[in-house]
Amino acid sequence: MQLTDIGANLTHDSFDADREEVIARAVEAGVSRMVITGADADHSRRAVGLAAAHPGVLYATAGVHPHHASDFGPGTRDELDDILTRPGIVAAGECGLDYFRNFSPHASQRDAFHAQVELAIKHGLPLFLHQRDAHPDFLAVLDDFGADLPPAVVHCFTGSGEELDAYLERGYCIGITGWICDERRGRHLLEHVGRIPAGRLMLETDSPYLLPRDLEPRPRTRRNEPMWLPHVAATVARARGEALERLAAHTHAAAADFFRLEPAGTAYAGVS
Ligand SMILES: [Zn+2]
Repeated sequence: MQLTDIGANLTHDSFDADREEVIARAVEAGVSRMVITGADADHSRRAVGLAAAHPGVLYATAGVHPHHASDFGPGTRDELDDILTRPGIVAAGECGLDYFRNFSPHASQRDAFHAQVELAIKHGLPLFLHQRDAHPDFLAVLDDFGADLPPAVVHCFTGSGEELDAYLERGYCIGITGWICDERRGRHLLEHVGRIPAGRLMLETDSPYLLPRDLEPRPRTRRNEPMWLPHVAATVARARGEALERLAAHTHAAAADFFRLEPAGTAYAGVS
């Protein structure tokens, strides 16, 4: 069984002491590919460096998370414009809107988001998107681009059934994290995850964040790692009433197709 973790924040400083072991443990656990999330210009550059050191295993995105949108000026835009041309880059983002934490004013979040969608279009890259408590504005920005919008994945989807329907109608892909393993706030995802068609569903850990709450035995630290992706996959497979091997096969293929990973993935022909 092979899996792709489409959202791992492996440049996070909590991995500084043992990053190579974390990567090796993930590969050992069947997580043969990881897409490293770039959440600001500096970390995007580091993600490119990591991808270059692990060709065929690590890939990178480059973007500015909505939390950092107030730092997004013309200089940042030009930096991203350059980083997005580097080998190993497979998507623009993480970008989007976050009105839950509100670390940046809404207007700067929308501007930074809009500018990054333009960059994705310019570079012919798919979009790695973040949305929290900002669904209407998020759709408004994306709908502005109409048919020019590149393929998009809404990462770490935690929203309602109506939000999911709006994304599926627009053809977006959906990333599911260990949030679904949280009996307090992930219950609704168990209900909805079966509606995501094979080929549009991808899996991620969002590590070091979102350690699955139901791991047995509990790890000694709260730091999440890509090696826990099979646990997320098992939960998603159970919720979909699908064999784990089948879920692994179509989510792995969906990630290869979406991010155009080498060797080119074969499109999953099955129907969910
Ligand atoms: Zn995010």
